[in-house]
Amino acid sequence: MKIIIDPGHGGKDPGGGNNKFFKEKDMTLKISIYQYNRLKELGINVDITRKDDIYLSPKNRTKIVRNSESDICISNHINSVSNKYVQGAEIIHSIYTDGELANILLNELVKKGAIRRRVFSKANPQNPNKDYYYMNRDTGSVETVIVEYAFASNLNDTQKLLNNWMDYAEAVVKGICSYINHPYNNNTSLKLMGPSKSSLLQMETWARNNKATYKFIDAAKLYLKYGSLTKLRGDILYCQSAKETNFGKYTGIVKEEMNNFAGIKIKNPTGDNISDHETFKSMEDGIRAHFNHMCAYVGLTPIGNPHDRYYIVKSLNWASTVRYVEELGGKWAPDKNYGISIKNLLNELLNTEIDVINYKKLYEKCLKERKRLNYEIELLKEKINKIKSIVED
Ligand SMILES: [Zn+2]
Repeated sequence: MKIIIDPGHGGKDPGGGNNKFFKEKDMTLKISIYQYNRLKELGINVDITRKDDIYLSPKNRTKIVRNSESDICISNHINSVSNKYVQGAEIIHSIYTDGELANILLNELVKKGAIRRRVFSKANPQNPNKDYYYMNRDTGSVETVIVEYAFASNLNDTQKLLNNWMDYAEAVVKGICSYINHPYNNNTSLKLMGPSKSSLLQMETWARNNKATYKFIDAAKLYLKYGSLTKLRGDILYCQSAKETNFGKYTGIVKEEMNNFAGIKIKNPTGDNISDHETFKSMEDGIRAHFNHMCAYVGLTPIGNPHDRYYIVKSLNWASTVRYVEELGGKWAPDKNYGISIKNLLNELLNTEIDVINYKKLYEKCLKERKRLNYEIELLKEKINKIKSIVED
């Protein structure tokens, strides 16, 4: 059994379900990537027609679906009409299917708060033997449903979609499982302990794609090193640091030269000012402190001498009890969704594709540049020595 997820529209085609809050092509991509990751997590064979903001012609899109040899295709869309009062979710199935899948999906969406509009199929008025919509018509033997989650032209639907898009996306995942008889669980908890699932190259590529600073990109190998030393997941803590430091750009209170990679505070902070945050003597020391801090949460042995704040966390009643990333919300940071946002970053990281050829080129370029700079340093040293000898004379 194989599923293919199709994020509607993309690239030069924004779709029709747009408003001042989102474009249909972006919302469908967000929903689709979530579903793709979740179905994979559940052990289902899954494909996706696009992972980026690219244009696919109807011909190309349906060809991708047919060639994927999937059993089911979920084509994700957002509706829009001129009447701003029209609202709700609707699902379109082929005239050649009974609509069972569509009904299951709509029922799940309604359970998550979507308004029930309808399930329907539509034949081409010129040719009643054919489906009207190309996704239903030209996807061959793949059972395709078009899921219209909400009306972008309706304010109530829009607000619900903005708040609940993840729930809606999950509803479809649950519906698929029920339709194909696959065991479903929504225990999406992410364990803090375990080996990294990301490679160094992938972490560096992801950081670079997010316009991280060189220092932050360089930190990836230390995150893997301390991950294997502590048994905490280095890739997860790297994502946490990306969140805390905005990919090393330090756009918050803490500054880059403090080597504080996770917003760790001093022993007894009095507020949330720069002086309430710890400064570490080196990058490695700061990363070691990040891991040690998490060790206090999880109950692992710290590496070397821990920083002051470690002992404060150790004395809290929930110290050593934390197991999952989601539990960090309300503990590491006041925001309840703190852990979930780290999880989203991790998903993005794990889906980063590595361009090995480009990477090799870049690496060679860096080696050359380093040689050149070393040469310049030698020249400058010579000049300095000459000046020194002149001054001394
Ligand atoms: Zn659409």
